[in-house]
Amino acid sequence: MDYQAPQDLLANKVILVTGAGAGIGRVAATTFARYGATVILLGRTTAKLEQVYDEIVAAGYPEPGLAPMDLAGASSDDMRQFAEVLENTYGRLDGLLHNAALLGERIPVEHYDISKWMTVMQVNFNAVFMLTRQLLPLLRQSAAASLVFTSSSVGAEPKAYWGAYAVSKYAMEGLAKLLAEELENTSPVRVNILNPGATRTRMRAQAYPNENPATLKSADSLMPLYLYLMGDASIGVNGQTLVAD
Ligand code: NDP
Repeated sequence: MDYQAPQDLLANKVILVTGAGAGIGRVAATTFARYGATVILLGRTTAKLEQVYDEIVAAGYPEPGLAPMDLAGASSDDMRQFAEVLENTYGRLDGLLHNAALLGERIPVEHYDISKWMTVMQVNFNAVFMLTRQLLPLLRQSAAASLVFTSSSVGAEPKAYWGAYAVSKYAMEGLAKLLAEELENTSPVRVNILNPGATRTRMRAQAYPNENPATLKSADSLMPLYLYLMGDASIGVNGQTLVAD
């Protein structure tokens, strides 16, 4: 997408990014901040979140919020408390980028380790549902909130050997579509699915260890699409799947 975002696109917006410490989430969080957003950095490795925090503050962008949380273990109560903190601090949420995910194993279902399966489903799907469920009241407080679910081509159409990753993304797409329908006309919240396509990150290298990373696009190159979805230019776009490639 060659969308050219105005420099103040996200001024005064409060946007939560999950998996903000590395990969696409890290680039999205710093980009949203560069365009004026106050970003809340959620992730499981506090040191990585602190690095992103420092980078944003050093660049003179709005001071971000830090939200260390391991989505594999966080309960819905933890998330309710987190929502309360956000409510007390910011009063609303204008954007939520569900980005954190685990790849899990790439083997036949017959051999898939059951507890590893559960963990992938927890991080990639159940936590996404719970967080959305607890944060919807805050998204409704925004004049125009954008809820973005990051999927993958194997989430749109599960493929052999992609295991819990494919199933979790497939379920997540179902949740996104259902929510888009429920919230259309009843709220200022729009809900869309974003498939970044093959991107040079740790997860991609894990999935394709023999691939030359230099042949892949960077997370930076995805940002026009991410900005379009988070900014007001996409108001009215609801229930859509946007594919980067
Ligand atoms: P990375 O593995 O590079 O980054 C994933 C991020 O999620 C990291 O910040 C990681 O934290 C965080 N995370 C993982 N598990 C948890 C957890 N339990 N709790 C909290 N945070 C967690 O992946 P990408 O940047 O490549 O992927 C981003 C999104 O894009 C994912 O949803 C992925 O499925 C999707 N995608 C990626 C593609 C690609 O080619 N890269 C293609 C299609 C879809 P930490 O660094 O601390 O481990």
